[in-house]
Amino acid sequence: MSATVLTATQLRDAFAYAATRFRAEESRLCALDAAIGDGDHGITMRLGFDAIEAALAELDPTAGIDVVFQTAGTTFMDATGGAIGIIFGRMFTATGRALRGQIALGPAEFITMLQAMEAGVAKAGKAQPGDRTALDAIHAGAAVVPQTDLLATMQAAATAAERAAAGTAHLLCKIGRASKLGDRVLGHPDPGATSFCVLLRALADSLEARGS
Ligand SMILES: [Mg+2]
Repeated sequence: MSATVLTATQLRDAFAYAATRFRAEESRLCALDAAIGDGDHGITMRLGFDAIEAALAELDPTAGIDVVFQTAGTTFMDATGGAIGIIFGRMFTATGRALRGQIALGPAEFITMLQAMEAGVAKAGKAQPGDRTALDAIHAGAAVVPQTDLLATMQAAATAAERAAAGTAHLLCKIGRASKLGDRVLGHPDPGATSFCVLLRALADSLEARGS
């Protein structure tokens, strides 16, 4: 029987697990960015998640999941910057607001999280699905119907997001710096969308690794 909820403590562990994953993925994410930009995306993500891991380790042990997300968001923005700093920062702070007062993350709250992420990123980046941004992956994950089982819900969202992120390789860039590159972006998935998938898969894998 799988766990049906993630507690705030388990969520902090899941963020630490994601930080490990971003350290491992740094060069792959930089290579994706180098194809269409300045090649620093993997470094930015690693720095941001290292900072999140450190900040959450210092957080009051009684902090709720809303505070965990708020802290992750402000920490990521402070540690990084640029468009990706705003996207991932707002993604987490929007989730913190949407889950205010919740003590645990179950399947329904997990989808609420993804919907808050989608709304937060759409607003911050003035992007729409199909613009070839992280929003494409977030939108696909947020459209998943919550299942009874939390792990199954997280895995379904990660799989949907991964499919959408892979699909960004076939889209032209409509907003941001890479919009000047025209069809040179084709064949390369969007780095931000790919990083969102790294995060979502890490959250699911962290739960699975608990073996509960
Ligand atoms: Mg870059």
